[in-house]
Amino acid sequence: MDLNLKKHTSDLLFLPLGGANEIGMNVNLYHLDGKWLMVDCGVGFAYNIPGVDMMTADISFIKAHKKNLVGIILTHIHEDHMGAVQHLWKELEAPVYATTFGANFLRTKLAEFKLEHEVPIRIIDGSRELDLAPFKIEFIGLTHSVPEMQALLIKTRHGNVLHTGDWKFDPDPVIGQASEKEKIKAYGDRGEILAVICDSTNALSEGHSRSEGELYESLKSLITGRQGLVGVTTFASNIARIHTVARIAHDVGRKIVLAGFSLHRLHEVGKKSGYFTEDFPFISDRELKFYDKKEVLILCTGCQGEPNAAARKIATDNHPTIRFNKGDLMIFSSKIIPGNEKKIFELFDALAQKQIDVMTEKDHFVHVSGHPSQDELLEMYHLAQPKIAIPVHGEFLHTKAHCEIAQKAGVPKVFQIENGLATKISAEGCESVGFVKTGYFGVDGKQLLDFNGEVIRERKKLQFAGIVLVSLAVNDSLTMTTRPQITCVGSYDLKRDRDAAQMIEKEIQIFLKNKARELHLNEGFGLKFLKKKKNKKLQESKVMAEIEKSLRSKLLKIFEDLMGKRPALEIVIHLI
Ligand SMILES: [Zn+2]
Ligand SMILES: [Zn+2]
Repeated sequence: MDLNLKKHTSDLLFLPLGGANEIGMNVNLYHLDGKWLMVDCGVGFAYNIPGVDMMTADISFIKAHKKNLVGIILTHIHEDHMGAVQHLWKELEAPVYATTFGANFLRTKLAEFKLEHEVPIRIIDGSRELDLAPFKIEFIGLTHSVPEMQALLIKTRHGNVLHTGDWKFDPDPVIGQASEKEKIKAYGDRGEILAVICDSTNALSEGHSRSEGELYESLKSLITGRQGLVGVTTFASNIARIHTVARIAHDVGRKIVLAGFSLHRLHEVGKKSGYFTEDFPFISDRELKFYDKKEVLILCTGCQGEPNAAARKIATDNHPTIRFNKGDLMIFSSKIIPGNEKKIFELFDALAQKQIDVMTEKDHFVHVSGHPSQDELLEMYHLAQPKIAIPVHGEFLHTKAHCEIAQKAGVPKVFQIENGLATKISAEGCESVGFVKTGYFGVDGKQLLDFNGEVIRERKKLQFAGIVLVSLAVNDSLTMTTRPQITCVGSYDLKRDRDAAQMIEKEIQIFLKNKARELHLNEGFGLKFLKKKKNKKLQESKVMAEIEKSLRSKLLKIFEDLMGKRPALEIVIHLI
């Protein structure tokens, strides 16, 4: 059932365009009185499309309502929450709200797209309510693996919705504030939270997430006493982790080298936003030569096996200044994000081949998650005491498990939502009121490609079986004036198989001959006779298009016989 908005003008609706069927790509909408509020605008990882690593949500629905979009609020700096702003903002043109750190980081991303002076960025003041009529928003700080994560208490006349963003309960977050549980509890005790829209990432994990603060001792014990180089790779945005590793380096007498663009960027943005105020012993990689291996710690990008990141360059001896050898150590202070396994295991393997020791979260305590495990989710529901729970930020498996936890916590109405499904939230409960169009766009450099569009289809095809390009020059009676040009790219090796090349040329000749006969071209008319008639251009191009089409299917059949599968095939016939 399609959403009929006219029926719901005065209703409070929740509508995720992304992030409800997947971990990542969060794009959430709230509606009231014909106005819309967007919470987060993130990207997700894309798989199996060459050249496309990231994807955004299809936002055509809200684009059509952009006049009524009162703002885009970004909960925190993770890519899955703000990574699509530079790609999609031009289609929305609404003011963007972020914390100081979020805004500073966003500006660096916008600058890459020359948008830094176009996008109106408003800084969130966590101590004041934001009035984006008909919504009033109170911010509640929650701990996460990046600082300044802001949950939103969206206040409306129908009730208040707690949109959590990504969070955990951590008494010692190292950097940033501990979760403001007391604020949630105060509203919960007064029965003033109608619905909770909440993070499901770790809904399958039992117990409680471990604390960021616990990592110091563990990582330090692994690094202390090592005689060689030590590398630590982690998510560049995890300022607390960088802080912990820098403190350990300081405490064990090692200088720190940052390796990788995103770490340098985060370090700069962090400093600008009031972080990294301690006097940590950072040196540049060019200064490495002045130090012994045991006096240095390399903090590098690439914990997900990214091909151009520092860890990969180090593992394959392609880094311009950093060399790891036998007995050196690389610690992966990170988790393996599902979908990245292959790239990461290749990286482990490349390091192992060079006899470099590798430590990961599978074998050592080197990482903690920034998301709530089951006990924290239970606690959240006990604090907030909502009437409605709508889990998001997860695959169906996660949101299903999360629904069960909310039920266990006694939430009367629990609803498993999906992308594009609008849900009416009211004191009576919640009900789905219809679907809107959703989908995915691949981030291909600076352009966006529709997942169901021609370019992606073609690219997949090219990846699968390559392409054949055929160019012919024919005269008026459809006889070739030169030999045909047949170029195979990633499809079939015609240079090696000369017989096939000759056979194809011959088949083209036969085809053209038959066509000429069919069109009576050899009876003195010639193709150009069409030009003498009315609509001559149209007639001529129609005939040529038909000829190209039937030659294309003939050649496709030939290549299918040769290759055992169908390549992409393009034909151009020039009428001389
Ligand atoms: Zn996050
Ligand atoms: Zn997230």
